[in-house]
Amino acid sequence: MRIFDPHIHMTSRTTDDYEAMYAAGVRALVEPSFWLGQPRTSPESFFDYFDSLLGWEPFRAAQYGIAHHCTVALNPKEANDPRCLPVLEALPRFLVKDNVVAVGEIGYDSMTPAEDTALATQLQLAADHGLPALVHTPHRDKLAGMRRTIDVVRESSLDPEHVLLDHLNETTVKEAADSGCWLGFSIYPDTKMDEDRMVAVLKAHGTEKMLVNSAADWGKSDPLKTRRTADAMLAAGFTADEVDQVLWRNPVAFYGRSGKLQLDVPAPRDLHEGNSILRGGE
Ligand SMILES: [Zn+2]
Repeated sequence: MRIFDPHIHMTSRTTDDYEAMYAAGVRALVEPSFWLGQPRTSPESFFDYFDSLLGWEPFRAAQYGIAHHCTVALNPKEANDPRCLPVLEALPRFLVKDNVVAVGEIGYDSMTPAEDTALATQLQLAADHGLPALVHTPHRDKLAGMRRTIDVVRESSLDPEHVLLDHLNETTVKEAADSGCWLGFSIYPDTKMDEDRMVAVLKAHGTEKMLVNSAADWGKSDPLKTRRTADAMLAAGFTADEVDQVLWRNPVAFYGRSGKLQLDVPAPRDLHEGNSILRGGE
């Protein structure tokens, strides 16, 4: 089984996770830039973070046979801090990099005017750069947040076919599907979507344009949720081809719109800028 995790924050994960993901079938992933759990106070902190998503993290992933791409953006939460806004002006120099396959995560957190501006600006940046956009839907006020998100997408010049609406659930899937966007589901332990509910959503709404991700990060999460969902699909009677569509071909088709997806894993190098994952060991 081949798996593409279209949304996972490997910066927050260990080499054990990379090893377990490879063993479970993960061969490619996309790491969206996001909120690090603690507010950043200057744009330079973002730039160093984006550089690590473009350098160190693909280097680590290659050690474990996994192709690593990323998305960059000013995330919705930090779009509310005026100190972070210069990130918007600097984004074009990152968006042209080979490994950047979308603008993201963008969207709404608290649905403030500052978030409106950041979302509209970054949808335009995606359109200008021929990139798709990864749009996070809010965890609170989910349906209202998603409706407003879809309105902003419709007002933008970005084709809904280039937009992935993420963190969907049973309450938002129908309207999200009607919008013409791609549909992302984050499978978490204990809270929000789980793999059995995901299987029920796939039974009700089909496998077209559906993407499943672990969204694993520094919080309570599980980087193997993609595989667990695939297993739950098989147990529920989906075919291996349907599993491959959801867990591989759909994310490849969506991020492939960037024209930059490279699914051959580069040969692992010993060093990245003089450093290895062996931390000085042999
Ligand atoms: Zn995320």
